[in-house]
Amino acid sequence: MVTAKTVVDLKLEEKYGLFINGEFLEPTNGHIDAINAANGKVLSRIARGGKVEIDLAVKAANNAFKEWSNTPIEERSALLHKVADVLEANQERLKMIECMDTGRPIHEFDLDYKLAIYQFRYFASAILTFEGISRPIQNGHLIVKKEALGVCAQIIPWNVPMIMVSFKLAPALAAGNTVVLKPAEDASLSTIEFAKLLKDVLPKGVLNIVTGYGTEAGQALIDHPDIHKLAFTGSVGVGRLVGKTAGERLLPVTLELGGKAPHIVFPDVDIDRAVENATLGYTFFNGQSCVLGTRLFVHEDIYDEFVEKLIARAKEVKIGDPTDPSTRLSSLINEKQGKRVLGYFDIAREEGAKILYGGNRVTVPGNEHGYFIEPTIIEAESDMRIAQEEIFGPACTVTRWSDIDEVIEMANNVQYGLAAGIMTENLENALNTANKLEAGSVWINQYFNFQSGAPFGGFKDSGVGREYSKEALDHYTQSKTIVVAYQMPPAGFFK
Ligand code: NAP
Ligand code: MG
Repeated sequence: MVTAKTVVDLKLEEKYGLFINGEFLEPTNGHIDAINAANGKVLSRIARGGKVEIDLAVKAANNAFKEWSNTPIEERSALLHKVADVLEANQERLKMIECMDTGRPIHEFDLDYKLAIYQFRYFASAILTFEGISRPIQNGHLIVKKEALGVCAQIIPWNVPMIMVSFKLAPALAAGNTVVLKPAEDASLSTIEFAKLLKDVLPKGVLNIVTGYGTEAGQALIDHPDIHKLAFTGSVGVGRLVGKTAGERLLPVTLELGGKAPHIVFPDVDIDRAVENATLGYTFFNGQSCVLGTRLFVHEDIYDEFVEKLIARAKEVKIGDPTDPSTRLSSLINEKQGKRVLGYFDIAREEGAKILYGGNRVTVPGNEHGYFIEPTIIEAESDMRIAQEEIFGPACTVTRWSDIDEVIEMANNVQYGLAAGIMTENLENALNTANKLEAGSVWINQYFNFQSGAPFGGFKDSGVGREYSKEALDHYTQSKTIVVAYQMPPAGFFK
């Protein structure tokens, strides 16, 4: 296990090229500093890719497509297992790189990498049983086959880089597509280091990584005429732009956008356990995730005790240096996000919500650059902006409820629908409520309970399509129906 003390040298390169056609190319537009989110030090420099490099990457991906899509599934599956092996073998170093690049606590990355490694293994296996239809029909045979789409343009955010890389690459490559992936400018280092490790694993051109700014590399990628599929995770604003481009060009698209998940607490719960689960639910990923349970609805019978304990628990969350394994909350990704989060606390105060605990930036010695924000608990009405808009920081709202139909209505009265949580010992209540919630994933009694093969994706403005499951293979293939008749109809058949 890598710890702050053992990592003296991450062996990062001084600067990186763009991973195109199996080689690292020098960018034409120079480099961008890759910053340690907590202490502000320059970790390395990533290439500032643009139109020229996107064009090269898309060409390489198109050239590689025919052979890759015709590679037997057994071979593609074996290669994806090899990708998983490489990730597994190098995970401790990659975790630390990602921890420093993003500012998230090192402790969290065991989950990230478990999910990421698992993704490659899952799709390496799933592709082997991803079957079409083949059956005899009267006077012939019917075949429905699943064909790869071509070059997939994939754009990912900075919050959970390796989870995002695996969610995007594994199904796309398993299905026989080639990829041009643009990581987020704020957190590209683990992705580009991973590409280095895969240089001799995947055939040239199958995977291409173009780092750079969203408005340059990202925009050039979605605008490129020779791509065949768009996949995006990030903000609703850019998601709409990607969706619009897909609409205009009639390209298949999958979008994973924001979230503002309700987490409903029934009066029958063990309060200590519920508080623990709720705290994990709103603070994990440094509060920077679309799946967090940030809208807590607590039954009035236990509201006061629950909130009191929630505050006490928030006080215990250890804020500290991201590389310290005992840290549970650390630096947000950058100043812009830090100010945005603090700005939301101002909005909360202005609209009459009450900050019960937290709301402040704290200083962690040696990391004065970083935006470390206290776990923040805000008492709010469910229709206030603070309870409706994605904060993307370690904060939750708490709202009292008494009537089950009313709480379901409040929970659903939000633009998003990615995830939801329910805590109760009454399974009838739990399932009745789960059935009525407008969310792609509902976790009962254990938040973030990601399960093998379970589709992940959003209702409403949280997105289009599903990842993490076999359904993703449908989004990365198109069906071809071939109907064979053994004999042509007799002459005169049409008379
Ligand atoms: P964002 O702007 O949507 O960024 C996501 C990705 O899209 C990044 O790789 C970004 O590149 C790229 N991008 C930006 N503009 C683009 C364009 N015009 N064309 C193509 N690609 C483009 O998200 P953000 O600014 O990082 O975060 C803003 C908010 O989005 C957050 O506060 C949060 O609410 C939400 N968010 C959601 C998720 C999620 O998992 N659903 C993740 C992160 C953020 P660069 O960043 O390199 O410029
Ligand atoms: Mg960084």
